[in-house]
This record gives sequence, C-alpha cells and structure tokens, in this order.
Amino acid sequence: MKVTKDTVVKFHYVLKSDEGDIIEDSSKSDPVALLFGHKNMIQGIEDALADKEAGAEFSVTVKPEDGYGEYLEEAIQRVPAKHLQGATKWKPGMVGVVNTEQGQRQVTVLKVGKFMLTVDTNHPLAGQVLNFDIKIVDVRVAEEEEISHGHAHGAGGHQH
Ligand SMILES: [Zn+2]
Repeated sequence: MKVTKDTVVKFHYVLKSDEGDIIEDSSKSDPVALLFGHKNMIQGIEDALADKEAGAEFSVTVKPEDGYGEYLEEAIQRVPAKHLQGATKWKPGMVGVVNTEQGQRQVTVLKVGKFMLTVDTNHPLAGQVLNFDIKIVDVRVAEEEEISHGHAHGAGGHQH
C-alpha cells in the first residue's frame, strides 16, 4: 500500500542539522504515526512520504520554506514574566510556553529583566535546513474516527 491521503504511515526518522549534528532520533521510541494528507507535519516531510511504501528508506533535505519557516527578527518580543509558563526563575536559553491567540507557543528566553523577558517566538528550527533519514515501517488505511479527528490513533499517534 502506498502513502496517500487518509492513510496512516508509521516511520522512524533521524533529523540532522546541516552541520551533521543529530537534533532528533525516533529510534528509541515507537515510530511516529502520521495521518497523511492532513497537514500534521511540515510540508517537506509530507512531500517526501507521498506514494512511498512500507520498507522504503530514504533521505530528504527540507529547506526552511518547506519546514519551520524563515527566521524572523520581528518574532523577538518582550513579554511580562508572569505570562511565561514552565519555570519560576528564568535564564537565557531556557524554553517556556506562552498562550497566544493561536494557542500555546514555545519560546526561547533571550534576556531576563525584573518584570519583562525578551523571548524569541521563532520555532527552534526556523531558518534551518533540515536533513531527515526516514524509514517507513507500516502503511495502513486510516479509520474513520482518525480522519474525523484529523490525527492517527495508537502507539506513535494520539492516545485518548
Ligand atoms: Zn483522536
């Protein structure tokens, strides 16, 4: 079976930076279960998985525009310290969560003041060229419930 819209594809991946450093590696846990064709993953990965079958192993390089976007200077913002969740004492480099109109967002702390923090709201991988080594473990037809929820269920997917 090929990866097409409304299939669930399970795959392992290793994500490396352009310098070759490993950023993420799924091999220590369950393979990722992705409901394909529902924009649950960056475009570069969906494009790479399309029409592949179980057993396929391949590498793909994803540019920022097909990944987590370009790095935006204007995404650096000052926020009141009380709005940042995840710790009580902040230091530059720590990652916290702020609630925005688009939902929760991970931010990286750049500067710490008494009441205000300077944070970077860019995705940590924004602006980076991403190199994925992918191995497809399984492809199956999605269940109706998964399609109506917009995500895969079970190990590697949503558990609820
Ligand atoms: Zn669900």
